[in-house]
Amino acid sequence: MVQRFDVSARFAAGAQYVAGRLGPGSSGSSHSVVDPATGEGVHTYELAGAADVDAAVGAARRAFPEWAGATPGERSDAMHRWAARLTELTGEFVYAESLQCGKPLKLSAEFDVPGSFDNVAFFAGAARQLTGVAAAEYSGEHTSYVRREPLGVIGSIAPWNYPLQMAAWKILPAVAAGNTIVLKPSELTPLTSLMFAEAAREAGIPDGVINIVTGAGAEAGEALVGHPDVAMTSFTGSTAVGRRVAEIASASPTAAKRLHLELGGKAPFVVFDDADVEAAAHGAVAGALINTGQDCTAATRAYVQRPLYEEFVGAVADLMSGVRVGDPFAQDTDLGPLISHAQRDRVAGFVDRARGYATVVTGGEAPGGDLARGAYYRPTLVRDAPQDSEIVQREVFGPVLAVLPFDSDDEGIALANDTPYGLAASAWSRDVFRTGRCAREIQAGCVWINDHIPIISEMPHGGYKASGYGKDMSAYSFEEYTQIKHVMSENTGVARKDWHRTVFGDR
Ligand code: NAD
Repeated sequence: MVQRFDVSARFAAGAQYVAGRLGPGSSGSSHSVVDPATGEGVHTYELAGAADVDAAVGAARRAFPEWAGATPGERSDAMHRWAARLTELTGEFVYAESLQCGKPLKLSAEFDVPGSFDNVAFFAGAARQLTGVAAAEYSGEHTSYVRREPLGVIGSIAPWNYPLQMAAWKILPAVAAGNTIVLKPSELTPLTSLMFAEAAREAGIPDGVINIVTGAGAEAGEALVGHPDVAMTSFTGSTAVGRRVAEIASASPTAAKRLHLELGGKAPFVVFDDADVEAAAHGAVAGALINTGQDCTAATRAYVQRPLYEEFVGAVADLMSGVRVGDPFAQDTDLGPLISHAQRDRVAGFVDRARGYATVVTGGEAPGGDLARGAYYRPTLVRDAPQDSEIVQREVFGPVLAVLPFDSDDEGIALANDTPYGLAASAWSRDVFRTGRCAREIQAGCVWINDHIPIISEMPHGGYKASGYGKDMSAYSFEEYTQIKHVMSENTGVARKDWHRTVFGDR
């Protein structure tokens, strides 16, 4: 299942993939990919600068006419070949994703990698199925139809928490619709984005259609967002950086550059007093700890109706204390390290400050012994923090769940909506009227009912409120990566049309 390889040898040429070739960056700075389980560098590469971004955008621009001019069937065939090639490389992707992120093997092997490859297969099919209003003679004298056209060169920026999935979510709808793309992955985790693009070339997708620049946000990221030949910026990351990206994009000489922002989250997990408490406790632990809590849709705030509160807190604490923290490459590991020691210290800071206003029920510390050198942190449950405290309001992005009680249904739903974010939420109840009310009233791009986390290629992912706008995955993502042209063709051939009298002369 896992196929190890020498990362330094594989990426010896560099971590910039432009016009079908790996090469070095020209920023003058280098960066190391670090294994967060050990703190040791696994590969050092030269970061991209503005000149590399410019070269990648140029390659994407040159590749655009041919790729946009291919038939949907031709693009679809190439993407099916890509999906097949990726499947052959599964073991290498599992290894690289676990190595650069510290993800437990079972998460990479059963979630990140197959989920991303399924996205390729989905978009290979969806490329042939772009939708629109039916052509017809709506005015009586004209035939109207819509063309759904690609935008040109897309500039995309991705975070480090799900590097392969984020590369897939950005690249696939863009290229399926006939655009070409320059993706900037996080400089912490470039490996699988580069491998993903290389596999596309091996499958026959033309050079320049997919380019990867690996550089720092402030340099390569800003150069990509501001580049005048980039028609659209698609960004996934924190809300703070998303706001900066929006500022740069709006100042671009390309008027009205299109923006798609997938930002942070602080998902509520609402448990009503008729819920199956055992199912809710299992769901909370899985939903809070997936990817060591570094998931934009992770369950972060559990609101539990008072009659079930103590039972739920006890059940979650028991389950959390049995979670096996350890080496991502050990078969029995449940929870790997955070992405870096800096991220671990940030998470610990939230929990340490919470001790002043709430109770840490379990966790709240980094493990010692063999794990001390990695960026590990134990699964943590914090109870009774005030609703306006930072641990309830801000994105912690670690294996930490806050749990609070509520009384009435109105209060539970109001608390769920009471943060700036609106990415995802879940409601736990056996009463369809309660869950239906949550589906309607919780302001989030996804509401799960009696579950929390599952995603699927056919369905959209995206935020409300400060979690951004626009959709990843599903046919809805074509709305972001295409522009609609209305063509209105006059059918009568009459020189003087009836409507002309509203402008000059009489009938
Ligand atoms: P981040 O915002 O720090 O960085 C994201 C990307 O932006 C990185 O590639 C980074 O290099 C780049 N960047 C940084 N500064 C930039 C700038 N000034 N201009 C252009 N690019 C810049 O986020 P992160 O720490 O990598 O990832 C975690 C965040 O991502 C969390 O907030 C999480 O919720 C969010 N996220 C959201 C989704 C979603 O679908 N909504 C999915 C995954 C992660």
